[in-house]
Amino acid sequence: MKKSKQAILSLLLIGMLLISVGCSSDSVQQRGENTGDSDGKIIVVTTIGQIADMVEQVGGEYVEVRGLMGPGVDPHLYKASQGDIAKMEAAEIIFYNGLNLEGKMADIFVRMASQKPAIAVSEYLGDEELMEPEAFAGHYDPHIWFDLNLWKRAAERVRDGLIELAPEHRADFEQNAEAYMTQLEELHQYALESIATIPEESRVLVTAHDAFGYFGEAYGMEVVGLQGISTDAEYGVMDVQNLVEMLVERKIKAVFIESSVPPTAIEAVVEGAKVQGHEVKIGGELFSDAMGEAGTPEGTFLGMFRHNVNTIVQALR
Ligand SMILES: [Zn+2]
Repeated sequence: MKKSKQAILSLLLIGMLLISVGCSSDSVQQRGENTGDSDGKIIVVTTIGQIADMVEQVGGEYVEVRGLMGPGVDPHLYKASQGDIAKMEAAEIIFYNGLNLEGKMADIFVRMASQKPAIAVSEYLGDEELMEPEAFAGHYDPHIWFDLNLWKRAAERVRDGLIELAPEHRADFEQNAEAYMTQLEELHQYALESIATIPEESRVLVTAHDAFGYFGEAYGMEVVGLQGISTDAEYGVMDVQNLVEMLVERKIKAVFIESSVPPTAIEAVVEGAKVQGHEVKIGGELFSDAMGEAGTPEGTFLGMFRHNVNTIVQALR
């Protein structure tokens, strides 16, 4: 008797649980529809600023973009907050970089993808286009925005994702994407021409972490990062020592700090070179995985990329 009562009770409990699960997923759906329809815009959630900017360019007046990672934020280490998860639940579509850039968010993207389009903008890139440096231990380099030809492919993925969701705006999305890709192409040419003005032996880019592999490949610079693929990896005393020796040997004039990585490591390199009697200056701050403050030129992708090119050229020429 007692047992069967318990059984009934637990059945009831399970039933209530099921109902409440059903309710919560309903309310999420409703909220998504409501926020999407309230001002007629598609609610989009993005990870890094570079993607937020791209979706704004391609989506134009039809999208409201809610970026998760602001200036100075390191995507490799970023963990989604409860607020971020709520934002993603309320979104109609999510764009992220993929290739393990947002290394701590992989599970969330999988979960979101069962409810709504959650798209890696790197999806269209084939194995042959991606770099897989030895130090990255079997992973692709995720920093694809630093080769503007690759970033154009990301723009295509964003365009197609928006068209799939809102085919009625196809013509506008196509036109916006085309215009953005033209700007990327112009900037690509500018970068090629600018980097070429640095004397060949000085075309060495030393930074805190290996974000600039594609940049080096595309625009003709040797790239040396103190940390590996991700800022998650530690650098060691040996790394600093090796880097110092290289700087001294090759008489490299400048190294660079990054806005989203603490400058300590690069400062140690500068100090180390000084001890060996070689003056290395910090050539400036580069924007690698995060963009600058909104409202400044570096707060846009085209602006941050141009800033990087100009900073590198000024310091090394
Ligand atoms: Zn990075």
